[in-house]
Amino acid sequence: MYCKTCGKEMDNQSKFCPSCGEPVEKDEFAEMFQSNENKRSKNYNTELILGILAVVFSVLNYIGIFYVHLIGITLGAITMSLVNRDKKDGFEFSNAGYIMGVLGFVLGLIAVIIGVMYSM
Ligand SMILES: [Zn+2]
Repeated sequence: MYCKTCGKEMDNQSKFCPSCGEPVEKDEFAEMFQSNENKRSKNYNTELILGILAVVFSVLNYIGIFYVHLIGITLGAITMSLVNRDKKDGFEFSNAGYIMGVLGFVLGLIAVIIGVMYSM
């Protein structure tokens, strides 16, 4: 990176030019993009995959493959706890993963309730 005022080469991270002291004008879009990238949770893809699997396992119960909804509930719960941790730490989490994790969790719970009702 080069200073826009005096043209001296400078550190990418510095806020002021070391040679003329001029404040660095950063490309705001580039910075926003970079901070989003940096703030994206490292669990982003895990949340998405676990969320999808939570829904899949819970839905399998409704088409006659029993007990797998317990896996759906577990995966949904793990997804929600990962997202909650990201929320607390201010990371960008996977919205789609979160929605599907909750959906899988709820569908799994409904399957448990239906199962209990049928066994009575
Ligand atoms: Zn300068």
